[in-house]
Amino acid sequence: IEYGNIVEVVSREVDTWVKGKTLEISHLKDLEKYRKEFLGNVSHELKTPIFNIQGYVLTLLDGALEDPKINRKYLERTEKSINRLISIVEDLEEISMLEAGVLKLAKERFNLVFLVEEVFEAQEIRARDKKIKLRFDTSYDKPIWVKADKQKIYQVITNLVVNSINYGKESGKTTITFIDLMDRVLVEVSDNGMGIPTKEIPRVFERFYRVDKSRSRDQGGTGLGLAIVKHIIEAHEQSINVRSSVNEGTTFGFTLKRVV
Ligand code: ADP
Repeated sequence: IEYGNIVEVVSREVDTWVKGKTLEISHLKDLEKYRKEFLGNVSHELKTPIFNIQGYVLTLLDGALEDPKINRKYLERTEKSINRLISIVEDLEEISMLEAGVLKLAKERFNLVFLVEEVFEAQEIRARDKKIKLRFDTSYDKPIWVKADKQKIYQVITNLVVNSINYGKESGKTTITFIDLMDRVLVEVSDNGMGIPTKEIPRVFERFYRVDKSRSRDQGGTGLGLAIVKHIIEAHEQSINVRSSVNEGTTFGFTLKRVV
């Protein structure tokens, strides 16, 4: 073996090793950035309700407690902020389980038409407050059997329907359509609401991303709903997409595996 060849081989090996390490380091740096961002977002989300609670309690201690006309109001506001903290913590638990990949899907065969009807029933009051109609695009007399984690898919449809109401317009409508794709079914949730600006569309599935922060918080949003939805659909090895036009409306569509 020539000396020159050995040098070449060794330097090539070293090169590959260095490249590998560089990649590893940049990956670790990305993870670190991601972790910092996540922590920053979480503490920011938690601060608002906590400071609100502090304000209400201080007002009560300051004398409002003695006034029966206003003490109830402050207690009710405290309760509302506590409920908000609970939903943030629940969503955080869910997303960290999903991201850690520890989630086990409990797949079963069920009728998708029934599941959507259950979601409609549960969200009826919310929809009625905004005079929004929840309906199917046509009547589905026959069952649509799918195999999936029923509870998780219930959550997916709920999140999409709740968004369609929250970001929908007064007296608008939410429509669910099933499209047959042979071995799969495409479920579309459409509204005729405010829509999403084109440049924001690719970002709506990111955690804590909101087009309009104050609007989302007013509606009780945590900014985690769509990130959770996407994780659940991907855990099923299926896909989700969105199309939207400002002031016209939004359609979210996801697929599920059909069974007979
Ligand atoms: P949030 O808790 O803020 O609703 P999501 O993750 O569910 O969080 O949604 C992220 C953002 O995407 C929302 O804040 C909103 O700006 C936008 N969005 C979601 N669904 C719709 C919809 N149907 N119409 C318009 N905008 C929507």
